[in-house]
Amino acid sequence: MDHKSIGRFNKSLEARRLILAQTQGKLLSTPADYGKDEGDRANNALARELDLEQKSRDRALLTSVEAALSRIHEGTFGQCLNCSQEINAKRLEAIPWVRYCITCQELIDGTKEK
Ligand SMILES: [Zn+2]
Repeated sequence: MDHKSIGRFNKSLEARRLILAQTQGKLLSTPADYGKDEGDRANNALARELDLEQKSRDRALLTSVEAALSRIHEGTFGQCLNCSQEINAKRLEAIPWVRYCITCQELIDGTKEK
């Protein structure tokens, strides 16, 4: 992959990492049990649960984004972690933190289903 593309991916991954890191901080400061009555508390509990769900999804994404950034620094970005083939450019454009080429991804997903 050429330097220009790497630079572009690096930029977009860094931006994503920043957003995710900020979200993690924000959600942490959500009050634990804010609300006057039972209904408020129930709503709040639900909101909190959704927050936590979102947060764990974001945390997983943040880990993937950070891993992709370290692959950029190591010079292995864009290579499939399984077969070391170059990952399709369109696939990388869509998901810059993707780990596997489409062939390996399908293989892995197929194994999971069974
Ligand atoms: Zn592969």
